[in-house]
Amino acid sequence: MKNLYKKSKMALLVMVMLGAFSCKEQQEVEQNYTLFHGGTILTVDEAFSEVEAMVIKDQKIVAVGSFENLNNEYGQSAKLIDLEGRTMLPGFIDAHSHAVSGALANNLMDYIGMSRFKTTEEVLEYLRQKVKETPEGDWITGRNWDPAVQDGPEELTTSILDSISTQHPIFILNASGHLAYANSRAFEASGIDSTVENPDGAEFVKDSQGNLNGVMKNMLSFIQVMTANPKMQTYDPVPALLELLDEWSAEGVTTSSEFALGAATNSPADLEIMLEAAKNEAFHVRLRAYPSYIINDQWNEIGLKNNTGNDLAKVVGFKLVADGSNQGFTGLQRETYCCSASHMTSFGNEYTSVDDLYSYAKERTEQGFQLAIHGNGDKAIDNILAVLQRLKDEGYEFEGLRPRIEHASILHDDQIRKMKELGVTPSFLIGHVYYWGTFMRDEVFGKEKVQLLDRCASVEKVNMPFSLHSDFMVTNTLPLEMIETAVTRRTWKEPDYQLAPQEAISVESAIKAVTAHAAWQLMSEDEIGSLEVGKYADMVILEEDPRKVEPTNISEIKVLETWFNGKKVYQLEEN
Ligand SMILES: [Zn+2]
Repeated sequence: MKNLYKKSKMALLVMVMLGAFSCKEQQEVEQNYTLFHGGTILTVDEAFSEVEAMVIKDQKIVAVGSFENLNNEYGQSAKLIDLEGRTMLPGFIDAHSHAVSGALANNLMDYIGMSRFKTTEEVLEYLRQKVKETPEGDWITGRNWDPAVQDGPEELTTSILDSISTQHPIFILNASGHLAYANSRAFEASGIDSTVENPDGAEFVKDSQGNLNGVMKNMLSFIQVMTANPKMQTYDPVPALLELLDEWSAEGVTTSSEFALGAATNSPADLEIMLEAAKNEAFHVRLRAYPSYIINDQWNEIGLKNNTGNDLAKVVGFKLVADGSNQGFTGLQRETYCCSASHMTSFGNEYTSVDDLYSYAKERTEQGFQLAIHGNGDKAIDNILAVLQRLKDEGYEFEGLRPRIEHASILHDDQIRKMKELGVTPSFLIGHVYYWGTFMRDEVFGKEKVQLLDRCASVEKVNMPFSLHSDFMVTNTLPLEMIETAVTRRTWKEPDYQLAPQEAISVESAIKAVTAHAAWQLMSEDEIGSLEVGKYADMVILEEDPRKVEPTNISEIKVLETWFNGKKVYQLEEN
């Protein structure tokens, strides 16, 4: 993967040269203050204060308060911006995403998910068309296929995919990111046959005769197929990342994250890609990264240190994974899955054993890394809490490192109490409620257990900060949609059905979960997350105040402008 880095350097050079022309103009503007007024400014400070005016200079916020005071003090030397009744908030923060690997998937794989195709038959028809247009031997790839919501077969087995083509390697990634499917030509191109050994916690699924059936569980297995695609060799990671970040700017996002650093290239080159991108003028979304345990030894070889990077892009923790995904039936459960015959005897998958989780966690705690541990099923969360309890009993000081449980999809009351006791906080993939809510109810958990999904209100009740996230590319990066779902608990398939309405939270709480609390969880609350003096001038300007519209319309509010590091980086084009 060396050429990845080289190539990104070339692209960077070109961009720096292109950017050089606008430097002088920017310097002149940077001498002055900018004073925002005339709208609703929600600071999202501790008291959720609303102020009349805010002043920024260079990259930072220098004052917030009444228009009269700020105009007296700064008016003379400030450029005034009238918000004309619009609402300004801290820029949105996606507390768990996959920027670097997401950019790769976004660039290399066709989106074939639920927003595009209703049924799997439509997906297969699309792939058949694709075969006709694609030269023999070239790869056909798709992402976000989701049997949970796209009606049809539960798996894309080799035999189904071979019926599409045996002349083209075909690789399809499940929407969960934890499962993938390949045809026989793709296995052949990767040098993988039925003698392949399963990596720890991962599986190349075989049929009763011992042949590969095409299904692969956990990235540790399918990364071996994915990287055999020659397009991976010519992929240009820095421009692809910048392009993806710009798409997020348009949604009001000013900070996002990478929760499996190393997964895109299967090497620490992911870190270099992120840091190179951050040197670019066109880098408009801060990144907070969590190196992944899947290349644990490689991180040790390069002597990975916490806080590598700067305020634009840096490593702030370390990522471990306890299980898979609930909607993929690989989340690890206390009880077997409920309702469909093919899963009723399954408890899901333990991706990392408790002993291994413990040794990774111990190693990284000793090095001062925040732990971010993926846990979807209730048993996986038991395992995570057991590991943290063991560390605590042995005298390790991890609480100040704010350990997080990623997704924390199913939480029992006893687990919430335990988390509070241990100083662990959750980050919720709230799209589980919106996109998969009815599937979780009918096929995964049943009516009773599904009440424990994404328990925002229960967690808030015990004063535990929590965040909401997209887990891009599991769901698209739409912070206003995340706020709406947390407030309404509505589902995509049955818009009138509210999943566990007792877990609904206020608009203010949901805003905190994509700003201030997300910043805190990303160890960055001194820099971002609220509009307070000394923090970076990262803001979003919305057409309307999310507190003042019908809750079911929050996701429709237009993002008018996004400001990053004191500069406007996005403006909605008026038609
Ligand atoms: Zn993730």
